[in-house]
Amino acid sequence: MSCVESRVREMKVRFNAELLKRHCDLKNTSSVFLTDERYYQLIKDVDSAKSKTKKKEPRDYWLHKKYDILVVNNNSKLIYPVKNNDNNILYYIKESDVFDVLHDAHQSLGHGGRDRMLYELNSKFKNITRFEVDLYLSLCELCQLKHKKIRKGLVVKPIISSEFNSRCQVDLIDFQSNADKLFKFIMVYQDHLTKFVVIKPLKTKTAEEVAYNLIDIFTLLGAPSILQSDNGREFSNQIVSNLKNYWPNLKIVHGKPRHSQSQGSVERANQDIQNMLMTWMRDNNTSKWSEGLRFIQLMKNRAYHKGINRSPYEAL
Ligand SMILES: [Zn+2]
Repeated sequence: MSCVESRVREMKVRFNAELLKRHCDLKNTSSVFLTDERYYQLIKDVDSAKSKTKKKEPRDYWLHKKYDILVVNNNSKLIYPVKNNDNNILYYIKESDVFDVLHDAHQSLGHGGRDRMLYELNSKFKNITRFEVDLYLSLCELCQLKHKKIRKGLVVKPIISSEFNSRCQVDLIDFQSNADKLFKFIMVYQDHLTKFVVIKPLKTKTAEEVAYNLIDIFTLLGAPSILQSDNGREFSNQIVSNLKNYWPNLKIVHGKPRHSQSQGSVERANQDIQNMLMTWMRDNNTSKWSEGLRFIQLMKNRAYHKGINRSPYEAL
């Protein structure tokens, strides 16, 4: 078992223990909480209530109103009755599955906070509570670490991007040896969380030209809170002050470049773009790479990205 898996298992054990404690304190009066036993009993009861044609009892009507059964791959699932004008299915979750459901949602939202998790979960499940989400978040080490640092005021900038546009990176690839008329550089702009990229051809590597192109991107996708560059702190500083010339009210700071550990992945990503571009030029029998960049951008955003387990388009 990997280190990460064992940490998640430990988290699950602690989560379930706390949840059990909570429902013992409440003496199990909470009707939304379903122990596995109660969940399977309800499936049986709903089944028999549905098959009754005569002699319905008040409890049968109550069951009808609150529950229904959906059979998926021969498994009966307890769901909230689907109304005619709504085809969204809301599942009831049993005790032993609560943690996994929360964990999946939290990971897929890039360590999403309480509101985003509740929004996501309430669209799929009927009985996930705020208490359960808060309990889960209190056990996520990464999220707790992040909060502690913000609270202490030691680190203002979040280390982990939890939202789209919280941290973005702009890098230049030197293509002077392959100049396409006036174009000599490639600007690669990327959002940290979604890995979504925008790629543009540049004539110079001046901060002015970079800033000019970034304004196009910011007015389309929104501006990031933090902008960083592997082309140096001074460079990202210059870009930020140039951006403010175009857009005086822009709230943006330049951040430290990625730590050395992931430096390699940036270089690999930029190498990847150059390789794709070379292939595109060969396939299209042209040396006009400035025109090929938009297709490389499409390919990059459409391709599965291992780090986020989906394509940047899906993530966005
Ligand atoms: Zn987290």
